Formats: sequence, C-alpha cells, structure tokens
Amino acid sequence: MTRVFSGIQPSGTLTLGNYLGALQHFVGLQDEHECFFCIVDQHAITVPQDKVKLRQNIRKLAALYLATGIDPKKSTLFIQSEVPAHAQMAWIMQCVSYIGELERMTQFKDKSAGKEAVSSALLTYPPLMAADILLYNADIVPVGEDQKQHMELTRNLAERFNRKYNDIFTVPEAQIPQVGARIMSLQEPTKKMSKSDENQKAFISMLDDEKTVIKKIKSAVTDSENEIRFDRENKPGVSNLMSIYSLSTGKSLEEIEQDFSGKGYGDFKQAVAEAAAGLLRPIRERYEELIHSDELDDILDEGAERAQRAAFKTLKKAERAMGLGRKR
Ligand code: ATP
Ligand code: MG
Repeated sequence: MTRVFSGIQPSGTLTLGNYLGALQHFVGLQDEHECFFCIVDQHAITVPQDKVKLRQNIRKLAALYLATGIDPKKSTLFIQSEVPAHAQMAWIMQCVSYIGELERMTQFKDKSAGKEAVSSALLTYPPLMAADILLYNADIVPVGEDQKQHMELTRNLAERFNRKYNDIFTVPEAQIPQVGARIMSLQEPTKKMSKSDENQKAFISMLDDEKTVIKKIKSAVTDSENEIRFDRENKPGVSNLMSIYSLSTGKSLEEIEQDFSGKGYGDFKQAVAEAAAGLLRPIRERYEELIHSDELDDILDEGAERAQRAAFKTLKKAERAMGLGRKR
C-alpha cells in the first residue's frame, strides 16, 4: 500500500487557503493509501510563538483535521513533538544538507526578511520537513504550491543519503492540486494567504463565523475596473476570489465569467462570501463537538504510538547506515 504523509503547522488557525490547497485533498486519500497526518508543532517554533496560544492551536488543528473528515480508523493523526524520531532524524538530515541550498529556499528568505533575530531553525526547517516525510517512507506528499521547493530539496536529500550511505529512503512525490494550490491574501493578492499573517483581514480562518467571512470578502482588494474576468497577472484580487468561488461551488472559471457578466463587484463578492461561508459551516459545527472531547486526546495518544512505531524503524536503519551507536 502506498504511503501518504502531510503536515500542517499550528502557527495560527487554519485558513481557507490551507483547506483548499491541502486539507481538502487529504480525506479522499485515506481509502487507498496508508496516511500519516501530522501537527508539526516543532516547525511552528522556528518563529516566536506564545506558549498558551500554541497549545490551543495544536488542539484546534487536531480537531479541524477530524472535522474535515480525517478518520482515525483509517489514518494516523499525531503531534510531531510527541514522536521523538522526528527531531532525531532531522539531525541526520541536517548533516546531509548544505547551508547554501538551505539559504536559497524562498520560505527562509520570506520569513527572515526584515527580522532582527532569525533562529537557526528557520534555516534548518527543510531538513526537519525532509525527516518528517522520509521517516514514513511516504510515496506521496499532498501540499500546496508553496511547498514545491521544499519537496524538491527533500527528494535531493533522500537521493543523496541513499547514494552516500545505503538505499533506505523512498524518494517522495509532491502532489499539488491543479486549482487552489495557491490561494492569495485578500489584502495583498500577489502574496499567498497565510495563517500567520499579522493582518486578520488578509485571510479567512476556517473558524470565522459567517458575518466575519462576509465582511472579509467584502473588503478584499480588487481593482478599479468592474469586470469579473480571470487574469492572475492584471487582476490578481478578482482572480483569487474567482478561484475561491470555483472551489466552493464546483463551477468552472468560464461559467463564473458568464454568470457575472455585466454584474458588479458588489454582487460577485456577496456570492463568493456566501459560498465560502457555506463550505465552512458544517466543518465548524463538527469542530465544536470535538474540540473539548476526550475522544480527541485518545486519538492523538494512539496516533503518536502508531507513528513512533513506524518512524523508529526507519530512524534505526538510517543510524545504522551512518555508523552511529554500537553494533547489536
Ligand atoms: P505559516 O504562515 O505559519 O507558514 P501557512 O498558512 O503557510 O502558515 P503551513 O502550515 O505552512 O500554513 O502549510 C500547511 C499546508 O497548507 C501546506 O501543504 C501548504 O502548502 C498549504 N498552504 C499554505 N498556504 C496556502 C495557500 N495560500 N494556498 C494553498 N495552500 C496553502
Ligand atoms: Mg507556510
């Protein structure tokens, strides 16, 4: 059975971008693949986090995974820091990566730009991500477009290790959706939507109530024309809203252009807002049932155990291949 791994950081409340680019595609993979879904809290601490909020966000993320349809009977859902093999394997991955290739990562450049103090872990984020994936011998990694570069590095590190030491890692493939792989910020539509954006108006959180969703979409930046047409380059704001509408309703971009021909941005935004709110409503309702339940802790305990069992095997193989420890 092929294996799937994907992780999301508890660095805020998940956005509509995280849902459309990643989470939404996870559910359908569960029947045919052995899936590992991870709450990557060790990735989140590569930038400063408030400890109380981080704890809340970890639990919220776990509940959201389940609320969107991740089934613990089919998939393993766990928290990264509860499975020590991740940090152990990350060290090995750091030993096979070069500083130069890590400095070239656009996420590192974006997240460190203009900051006075940048943690060394922000630079070594990709070797930890490689460790996450390679520990489970994942064949497929469903992610958004922004993770393409990190995925290429993961493949390079796996191949480099296999060549240098022993052929133990599966070289994984990124699975990036055709539409929705890059949902843009509502306020700066040339920048991707991010849950850690300081401007709350820039993203729709999966837990925003309907009034907030409508308010945020209504204040989304568009352009001075009044034409609903898909043109990422010249009309990034409108094109982004069209993508959101298309993914929320199943309508094609052409159909949307036809439906709104002759209509103004006000009508269009109202329709997008209602569609997005409708998409999130059932998820939010299921989330409310889960967030304070003991069931959630049981699922995460069991997930951590299952994950550690699988990960430990690969870790030991990698350590042996490199000559770490003693022969037993
Ligand atoms: P942060 O700003 O803290 O990095 P994030 O919103 O980028 O948060 P991540 O936890 O880094 O979220 O990524 C989780 C998943 O969501 C990844 O698969 C990533 O590719 C995907 N993703 C993130 N942002 C978007 C987006 N704007 N559109 C589509 N997919 C996205
Ligand atoms: Mg990110």
